[in-house]
Amino acid sequence: MTDFAATRARFDLPGDVIYLDGNSLGPLPRGVAARVQAVLADEWGGLLIRAWNDADWIAMPGRVGDRVGRLIGAPSGSVVMGDTLSVKVYQALAAALDLVPDRRVILSDSGNFPTDLYMAQGLIASLDRGHALRIVAPEAVMAAIDDSVAAVMLTEVDYRTGRRHDMRAITARARAVGAVVIWDLAHSAGALPVDVVVADVDFAVGCTYKYLNGGPGSPAFIYVAPRLADHVRPALSGWMGHEAPFAFDSDYRPARGIERMRVGTPPILALAALDAALDIWDSVDMADVRAASLALSARFIAGIEARCPDLALASPRDGAIRGSQVSLRHAEGYAIMQALIARGLIGDFRAPDILRFGITPLYIGAAEIDAAIDIIASVTDGRSWDDPASRRRGAVT
Ligand SMILES: *Cc1c(COP(=O)(O)O)cnc(C)c1O
Repeated sequence: MTDFAATRARFDLPGDVIYLDGNSLGPLPRGVAARVQAVLADEWGGLLIRAWNDADWIAMPGRVGDRVGRLIGAPSGSVVMGDTLSVKVYQALAAALDLVPDRRVILSDSGNFPTDLYMAQGLIASLDRGHALRIVAPEAVMAAIDDSVAAVMLTEVDYRTGRRHDMRAITARARAVGAVVIWDLAHSAGALPVDVVVADVDFAVGCTYKYLNGGPGSPAFIYVAPRLADHVRPALSGWMGHEAPFAFDSDYRPARGIERMRVGTPPILALAALDAALDIWDSVDMADVRAASLALSARFIAGIEARCPDLALASPRDGAIRGSQVSLRHAEGYAIMQALIARGLIGDFRAPDILRFGITPLYIGAAEIDAAIDIIASVTDGRSWDDPASRRRGAVT
């Protein structure tokens, strides 16, 4: 049984804040600063360039990848870290389209995160082979999977509403018609149990600064099913994905397996921060995290519905088809969120009208949920969000 009091004690959260935004940027785990400091002083400072070998920096993308892989059911040696999620989406999609050269349709849904769609649009333009991005409503995905589809590219949990796709059923349907499947696990990894092997997905990608608490801009991950990893063509054929980077050949030859999805020099400091942040998962059972998330989410929804009639539930009511966030709708959602943040409750806002609250049992319990409900009720009851300060928009919303 996971000890959530112990996991809570492993985060450095400001005392005057209730943090319901771990779905966007996970908080700083204790131990990360010391680890990064040690890598700075001992490895970069002390070993200098020798650290690539002596501290085994060179293998870090795969080593940390294995730790992330364990959280998504991926076998050792099938996940590698690097770059940003946008880049990993591009790599996975390019490799997928290559596997199905006679088809032209990329199927995605309107709940996908825009960068995934943008990367697909950019890839289509670069390939210039007549591919088309077909975007359907999330509920229409299953019916839209037919034998014209080359790749099904979806995010399991909708970043706005928290609606969760049936990864196994969609993957099975896609593979049955010969389409390749790419799952974006940005709102799944560290949020709920995932098993890429049981679902038999082809590619999975995700970021690590949300539920995995790796820090702002921490490296992304990519999983390629071992049955494909030696055959896929890397579109971003950088030297770190070469079979022999230090042979300095003029010609690219892909490395064996997942290593070919590396591109350039790995961000060692960011990987060190992420590696330290991942320690917490060694003492956590993902099934316990899921159960706690569902209980806290139900408590939150019940409290809001009882006390905040102005707010409408935007997430599925059924926990089984919801990720680890609760979203509420209000036409003045932006101003309301600003007013909440001014009172120490941090969630976030997604245009046009969604207030998002991440439910992260590693450091959020019933007391924080109840306090959050109190703050939301006080702000909506008195319309105290209705002032110019709350409507002012920063560069990041
Ligand atoms: C957060 C998120 C991203 C962000 O991509 P970056 O390249 O890391 O900025 C992409 N896709 C999804 C589905 C996300 O939720």
